[in-house]
Amino acid sequence: MTFQLHHTALSGDTPGTSTNLYWYTAGPEDAATRVHLQAALHADEQPGTMALHHLLPRLRDTDAAGQLTAHFTIYPSVNPLGLANFSLRHHIGRYDIETGVNYNRRWPDLYPQVADAIAGKLTQDGSENIAVIRTAVLDWIDSQQPRTAIQQLRLHVLRSAARSDIVLDLHCDDDSLKHIFTSPELMPGLQDLADWMSLAATLTAEDSGGGSFDEVLPTLYRKARLANSGHPIPNGAETATLEYRGRADSFDHIGQEDAAGLFGFFAGRGLIEADAGARPAPAPGPTPFEATEVLRADAPGLLAYRVELGERVTKGQPIADLIAMDGPEAFLARRPILAGTDGFVLSRVMGKYVSKGSSIAKIVGTEVLPTRAGAYLLED
Ligand SMILES: [Zn+2]
Repeated sequence: MTFQLHHTALSGDTPGTSTNLYWYTAGPEDAATRVHLQAALHADEQPGTMALHHLLPRLRDTDAAGQLTAHFTIYPSVNPLGLANFSLRHHIGRYDIETGVNYNRRWPDLYPQVADAIAGKLTQDGSENIAVIRTAVLDWIDSQQPRTAIQQLRLHVLRSAARSDIVLDLHCDDDSLKHIFTSPELMPGLQDLADWMSLAATLTAEDSGGGSFDEVLPTLYRKARLANSGHPIPNGAETATLEYRGRADSFDHIGQEDAAGLFGFFAGRGLIEADAGARPAPAPGPTPFEATEVLRADAPGLLAYRVELGERVTKGQPIADLIAMDGPEAFLARRPILAGTDGFVLSRVMGKYVSKGSSIAKIVGTEVLPTRAGAYLLED
């Protein structure tokens, strides 16, 4: 039996406080493949935690049967600091309330931190080069002296991810269909994950602009590759942000379905020697995230949606009406917010009162939008 619960105390920033971070490990410590799974980095997004709640017993049972061929590290709720952020009876899980920093932004750009350490050590063997880079990253992490609890948390999690070959960060949107964010060079390699998730879209970006957790390792290996062109440096990690529908979609039957998808993915890869189950129909292929419109309100008001999730729309089609809440026709006038691209509606917002500039929908198109090319791509 290798299945084991661990916890680490993060020393607090205020007198007398500390917070326990809980995680599990399972599978052989010396396995050729390491998997890092985490959920609720945005601590107000629970569907991933529910999925892992249902995956854990299956890992425990397959471990007991000696069927795990990979080493798994699982953080079912990776951000206990965010779990504690209540303000005026509202849970603020997306941002550190001390600094306002989004928990899934500003993860470190690792290549500059290890460039000197790997200089002269790279060979003509790609897997050896990955090992050299990993060692340098782990050395850098170990050399850090985190001051705050969130810095301790980030370094702890990054250390696990940096050792791993597959790194999956489970999130959810507001009101949404399932989708993945990942790096373009990781597709079609992760198409099997997309299929097993039965998702609606895989959105790819090299750099969405925010320093998201899932971009840390692909960015490291990409920069290493560009800076050391005489040496083969493959992708050292398959990483993705998995968006498990909307915030309210946390129920046993959905979590069981999502756990079955993850189990099927791992079994399909041979990382669990068990029946993967029936592989779902192929999911759509990837599209550039720059082709997804983040539709925003240009005035405050009350939203009246005119489309459903998944509905195909054309450029110029009304997505919602915005009911005026001030001005000469307050609470009488309504005017449409129009789609800026052809595509389908991936997400909407739960809160229908919106302020000026709020994002109200994502529309997945196939043509890169001029307003998105090279721009900051995230909603924040
Ligand atoms: Zn999130």
